[in-house]
Amino acid sequence: MAKKTKKAPKAKEFEYKAEMKQMLHLIIHSLYTNKEIFLRELISNASDALNKIRFRMLTDKDVLDADAELKINIEVNKEEHTLAIIDSGVGMTHDDLIERIGTVASSGTLEFVKQMQEQGKQINAEMIGQFGVGFYSVFMVTDEVVLETRAAENDSKGYRWKSDGGGKYSIEEIDKPDRGTKITFKLKKDAWEFAEDYRVKHIIKKYSNFVDFPVFVGDEKANTVEALWHKSKDDIKDEDRNEFYKFISNDHQDPAAHLHLNIEGAVNFKALLFIPGTAPLTFYQNPEDFDSIHLYSNKIFIQDNCRELLPEYLRFIKGVVDTEDLPLNVSREVTQSSPVMVKIKNTLTSKMLAFLKDLAKKEPEKFEKFSKDFGPLFKSGLNSDFTNRDKIIDLLRFESTKTESGKSTSLQEYTKRMGKDQKEIYFISGDHRESLEKNPKLEYFKKNDIEVLLLSEPIDVFIVPSINEYDKKPLKSIDKADLDITEDKDGDEALNEDLTKSLIEIFKETLGDKVEDVLASKRLVDSAVTLVVGEGAMDAQMEKMMKMMGQGIPGSKKILEINTKHPVIKNLSRLNIASSTDPVLRKTILQLYEGAEFLDGNLSSPNDFIKRMTELLQEATKA
Ligand code: ADP
Ligand code: MG
Repeated sequence: MAKKTKKAPKAKEFEYKAEMKQMLHLIIHSLYTNKEIFLRELISNASDALNKIRFRMLTDKDVLDADAELKINIEVNKEEHTLAIIDSGVGMTHDDLIERIGTVASSGTLEFVKQMQEQGKQINAEMIGQFGVGFYSVFMVTDEVVLETRAAENDSKGYRWKSDGGGKYSIEEIDKPDRGTKITFKLKKDAWEFAEDYRVKHIIKKYSNFVDFPVFVGDEKANTVEALWHKSKDDIKDEDRNEFYKFISNDHQDPAAHLHLNIEGAVNFKALLFIPGTAPLTFYQNPEDFDSIHLYSNKIFIQDNCRELLPEYLRFIKGVVDTEDLPLNVSREVTQSSPVMVKIKNTLTSKMLAFLKDLAKKEPEKFEKFSKDFGPLFKSGLNSDFTNRDKIIDLLRFESTKTESGKSTSLQEYTKRMGKDQKEIYFISGDHRESLEKNPKLEYFKKNDIEVLLLSEPIDVFIVPSINEYDKKPLKSIDKADLDITEDKDGDEALNEDLTKSLIEIFKETLGDKVEDVLASKRLVDSAVTLVVGEGAMDAQMEKMMKMMGQGIPGSKKILEINTKHPVIKNLSRLNIASSTDPVLRKTILQLYEGAEFLDGNLSSPNDFIKRMTELLQEATKA
């Protein structure tokens, strides 16, 4: 043990970064309920630190206090109202103190928390672990924290970190002979309950029974260390399993479903996997921040968030995988390239897809919720996992003109509802269901009771066209010009062929190279015109998305379809017969065209549009 001779320098003051200050302010001033969470967070950090040193010592015994027992001690002083949490974990260096304790780990967290506040949503203490600032929950129960730590390197130094949760913290060098971290603080008056042994033990039982190391309160071991996934399924109580889930996931809600596997054969492993009840708060902003699978080898924790065990599109799954097939001294490099890992991944993937299929059948409501929360990620699997493509397709859910708002359908259900004459599966994509439902392109389908999928999730435009066909039925965007539909014969009389042809000429002349073509429409019922795209071109929504992502694509030219039964079109035909250069005829054509662009969200010059409209209104109100 390194003995220090020279006197430690005085404490140096540091200022929290602005973002951290605000986060602290939020924690201290807006979290009141469930204060006990602070203990779970501190124990969880101690457990992480112990896992880290245990993992390191698998390959490197040359560390400070190599023989120290791996454990957590909690010292409760009822008279002084103080608590101390002591671990023999990996400890922290000076840099760690600044970078890990003094900083919000994930960018965007603060923004997110503020947004929640502005929207009047309740932020409760249980969420704090998700924000990656669990340590600071201690300021719910105290005004000042002292943290003493020494890292695992033999020549490391001890440090005392101190903060009152205001704008500053201080760090000073201290004599600390042993490895690990000790956190001490005096409880605020309204938190004195936590200076009671029984209270502390109770909290440990509730939250921390799955810590892999003994937790002592005084001399008494307060937890039972057990690897839940090694038990047989029937011996596990739901509540224990749920608590375990919360423990490893930082989630404060029960999981939606779980899958317990015991695989023996070409590869051997046990796994306990969970589907969260809801998507974590910042899941889509910072997907990397979320722990997915914890990897164990023979009950020894190897690493959290093990990316190699599941494909990206299943990253929402939480849980543990424990295998005997990896060498105990696995390093990250080994886990990244080991054929064992590949085998486990393949098995997990197909088991999980089968499990989801089962869930969809047996608990459709849960599956619906799952689709809503994780669909955007899950759907991306279609473009990356070609082996399981068909299984993924069967698990996709979309809203449609035949589902209520918020409810969805599978392609299988869709095809079952198809009429005898319907040969294609139709879809339309846009930003919201409400605006999609009003799209003129839907008119024909509504009138003829043909179902159309309403795709409003951004990912949909990237994956659905790639499905090509389902059950031998092609998927077709109703944005496209060449739909296999029969013209509506009933209703109002359409313009005859000659008049239509002549009017189309005038449309083309007026619009010039704004459009690729002008056609008589088979699909319009109530609207006068609509814009569609040619075969092979991107549909309107796709084009919009690409532009939003900054992809410099030249907008493809559209085809204008005109409804030859519509009164406006018939009026235009009459004007055309009288004089094909009539300014009202020409202006109306431009107006109809830009109106259709407007509906697609692509109108580039609203000023011209309004100016022309005013001129036409002036004309119409002249008499
Ligand atoms: P999180 O645990 O989600 O990273 P915390 O705010 O709880 O967020 O902790 C921040 C970081 O501080 C941890 O990631 C870890 O690096 C460090 N830390 C906290 N407590 C300890 C401890 N007892 N031993 C070693 N490192 C710790
Ligand atoms: Mg933590």
